[in-house]
Amino acid sequence: MPIVTQRYWCPECAAAYSQPGNCPTHRDEPLQDLAVPEVRLILEEQDDGAKQRHVSILIGVVAVIALFVMSGVFIVADYLDVDMNLIVVLFVVSGGLYAGAMSMFPYRSRAPEIDPEVLARFEAEREQGE
Ligand SMILES: [Zn+2]
Repeated sequence: MPIVTQRYWCPECAAAYSQPGNCPTHRDEPLQDLAVPEVRLILEEQDDGAKQRHVSILIGVVAVIALFVMSGVFIVADYLDVDMNLIVVLFVVSGGLYAGAMSMFPYRSRAPEIDPEVLARFEAEREQGE
């Protein structure tokens, strides 16, 4: 998670700036005021949604690969005349592939992580400004 020390957030950069207005890099992107609780909530919800999509895609990819691996395992098992427990093999193969996929493609959060002290400073600044 990007750690925040400044109050105005650009979701595109996943970075914070000291001055309100538009992002210096993304001219069309208005910066979000992290002192506003609703803004932080929306950013967290968007991040949760992105994480769920990330995990669903990994599961989908793993399921397809697991199918191929399983077919291979059973062809070999059949050839060697080994008796195999289908369910156990399925769990081991898909569990192993999933763990591997998660470590190779971990989800990187883009939601701002705000230290409670920093957040208290933002909120104090906001109260003074209003
Ligand atoms: Zn930006």
